[in-house]
Amino acid sequence: MTADTTEASPPHDDRPLDRHQPRARHLAALSWRRGLAISFAIVFIVEALIMGAFAVLHIEFSIWTEAFIDSTVLALGAGVLAWFLVVRPLGTELTRERAVITDTQARLHTELDRRDQDARIQRAFEWASDEDGVLDVVRRSTRTILPQHHVELWMADSSRSHLRRAGFDDGTPEDGCHIASPRECVAVQQGHMLQFPSSEDLDACPRLRNIRGESDRSAVCVPVTVLGESVGVLHALGPNQTRVPIDTTTRLQTISSSAGNRLSLLRALADSQLQASVDYLTGLLNRRSLRNEASGIAASGRPYAVLMLDLDHFKRLNDSHGHDIGDRALRVFADTLSTSTTDDMVSGRWGGEEFVVLIPAAGTSSAVAAAEAVRHGLAGALRSGAVPAFTVSIGVADSTQAPTFDEVLNLADDALFRAKQIGRDRVVTADELTAPVDADLYAV
Ligand code: GH3
Ligand code: MG
Ligand code: MG
Repeated sequence: MTADTTEASPPHDDRPLDRHQPRARHLAALSWRRGLAISFAIVFIVEALIMGAFAVLHIEFSIWTEAFIDSTVLALGAGVLAWFLVVRPLGTELTRERAVITDTQARLHTELDRRDQDARIQRAFEWASDEDGVLDVVRRSTRTILPQHHVELWMADSSRSHLRRAGFDDGTPEDGCHIASPRECVAVQQGHMLQFPSSEDLDACPRLRNIRGESDRSAVCVPVTVLGESVGVLHALGPNQTRVPIDTTTRLQTISSSAGNRLSLLRALADSQLQASVDYLTGLLNRRSLRNEASGIAASGRPYAVLMLDLDHFKRLNDSHGHDIGDRALRVFADTLSTSTTDDMVSGRWGGEEFVVLIPAAGTSSAVAAAEAVRHGLAGALRSGAVPAFTVSIGVADSTQAPTFDEVLNLADDALFRAKQIGRDRVVTADELTAPVDADLYAV
């Protein structure tokens, strides 16, 4: 099903017709001259008719014949004159004008067709909601305008130092132009479209000569720019000695810039969403995202466990070594949390030096094992001496102990408080809260 294009079609552009206004004035002058010529011709014809009539009125045969011949010759003369002065130039001019109008109409249709195609491509890009969708639009649109070419899109990876073939699974990869990094592509280096009619040309891209398969090829290379930076190249390989017409290269550039614009927008959106959901210092989820995750897990009805983690005597570490070292210690702990937990666990910074881990489909006993893994992981991470040593206390509770996430979290917090009370650097479960605190274990 094709989309309705009525709304998006541009209004008719009358500029091509404006260019013919001097011609219209010229035509008006011509009509004036034609009018004069026609008038003369009519006078000749009428005169010939009168003479003919005059001759008819004189009964004498010879005079009548003479007048008839005269008037006929005059009429013929007038006719020939009218043919050469009026009819023939008028016909020639009309034929020429018809050709101009046909040509203008054809160009207008082509232009409208092109705009309609461009509008469709634009709409397709606007509807692409992720990067794969954008690459798919590039693939389909380039295939339409360059059916004989082997088109590829190379995009830089996140480090911007490598190019990878993106979104084009068809064709044999060996046929393509293998560019390892954006720096190796001359079109990316120069930041504008380049066309190489033959790989054998002296000034052809050196990469073209190394393509396997056919020895000689032509190519059009259009850089893709995202947020002002060339991040990829649209690469169309064609038969040798082929020059892609200018309107096609213009379309390729439109596709490439639309793809770049859409990718820029999607990446900016993803960045802002990430910024809103991630803690800026540690890169872990922030409290809001943790809450969202917890709501999702709780809504699924599956059991889950919660770890509440608090760094021990962190104020002391800050006071002794400075806030920057304190920040570094927080990042070391966040890394430890990421490496010591499994992919199904959700870790985040709850605030300050407090962290939360959500463990889906788990009860207290497996959560204790996870908590111990974090505690030991921290000890291991600190062995390098990158930051001063510190420990963590952890409270554990699970969804069988309370009906809502907030209540489970409160239980884990209570367990954490007990861990602090009885000496820190340990794991305490909510189950243990009912046991009285041994006064000997109480530590400051
Ligand atoms: P306890 O073992 O009882 O938890 O003692 P504590 O010192 O860790 O707890 P307290 O609540 O007294 O102090 C928390 C400290 O954490 C105080 C604050 O300076 C520090 N802190 C909180 N957020 C940050 C941060 O973003 N960066 C740094 N460097 N320190 C932070
Ligand atoms: Mg605290
Ligand atoms: Mg603390």
